Amino acid sequence: MASNVILLTALVNAFAFNLPEFRMLQMYLAHMEDVFAREEVVALKSRVASASSVVVTSHRSPDGDAIGSSLALQHLLKGMGVNSTVVMPDMYAKFLHWMPGHQNVVFHDEEPDHANAALAGADLLFCLDYNAPSRAGRLSESVEAACANEATFVVMVDHHQEPEPFADLMISDPSSGSTCELVYRLMQAWGEERHLTADLASCLYCGLITDTGSFRFASVQPSSHTMAAALLGTGMDHSRIHSLVYDACRLDQVQLTAYALSQKLQVFPAHRSAIISLSQEELQRYNAQKGDTEGLVNRALAIEGINFAAFIKEDVDRVKLSLRSRGSFSARDVAAAHFNGGGHHNAAGGACEDESLESVVGRLVALIPTFSDELQYDD
Ligand code: 5GP
Ligand code: MN
Repeated sequence: MASNVILLTALVNAFAFNLPEFRMLQMYLAHMEDVFAREEVVALKSRVASASSVVVTSHRSPDGDAIGSSLALQHLLKGMGVNSTVVMPDMYAKFLHWMPGHQNVVFHDEEPDHANAALAGADLLFCLDYNAPSRAGRLSESVEAACANEATFVVMVDHHQEPEPFADLMISDPSSGSTCELVYRLMQAWGEERHLTADLASCLYCGLITDTGSFRFASVQPSSHTMAAALLGTGMDHSRIHSLVYDACRLDQVQLTAYALSQKLQVFPAHRSAIISLSQEELQRYNAQKGDTEGLVNRALAIEGINFAAFIKEDVDRVKLSLRSRGSFSARDVAAAHFNGGGHHNAAGGACEDESLESVVGRLVALIPTFSDELQYDD
């Protein structure tokens, strides 16, 4: 009874005074539900044991959480005696190539027939770290076909808001900071913790640190640290992983960052916003590789007083946006409403096809003053 009163008081306060608090409360309530206690999640273990062809996929331009959670699940399944194939839409950045299992990943952009055949022949398909088939890029059609195929049981494991109900089993927890934390909880729900080797732990740790800004973001929970403690307990070398992920920059890459920050940063102090944009010509001038501009948007957000930052990049086939915010302002809402995107409250992205870089930058610059009032806060 007392706890109900506290909850009700917190709700009223949150509504009346402070939106971020309300969001935290929503996250807390979502967490209380514990999707991993559901019967179907526990029952998935026997489906895994009897599956003959298991395929694990993740989203376009895979990041540390996408490939980390996929390889971690593959290691877990292997421990349970089940072989699986990890299939990615395209190659990820070089700083993720150290991950145990990387050498066996099938990439659609390199072997489309092999990748499509793997999905078409799967009786169990995992979709990790994405909330809609369209996020799977080159794999989208095959994922949609698998969803329509009665012979394929499709499982989504993801932490993005507002998932499309595409899978047979939806394991969604937007309160979680990473999909790797969800794979860890799946392992616990199945009672399979004995398979937590140093290799499996390295994959989970990589996704955990890359999606939580090394334990900095608001999405970090006590359980994130409890999990990290268990991972370190395997003897996994956490310091080496941080070095591999964050301290392996090429000179070109460092100079591209320097150029972007010194020449291409637009700051709008009155609107608490900052933008960096890079064209194909500028990227090529610095021989940019996949992953080279990752984290650049956070440098813009790190400027004192800035609550909203964007990095806009001209890709070969589209213009890609990375949006970040601090506190109550929703980067996700901007991505969803104006740039065909989505993601998380404070970290989102979008993409524009058939529109020039100048046009996308121009639209955002014009939009920023309309958000100005919502961006006037210190947190
Ligand atoms: P990033 O800026 O690091 O590429 O992405 C930040 C977050 O936004 C990630 O959680 C990612 O899943 C999401 N995101 C990035 N690009 C897109 C997009 O084009 N569409 C959607 N729905 N989400 C995106
Ligand atoms: Mn993720």
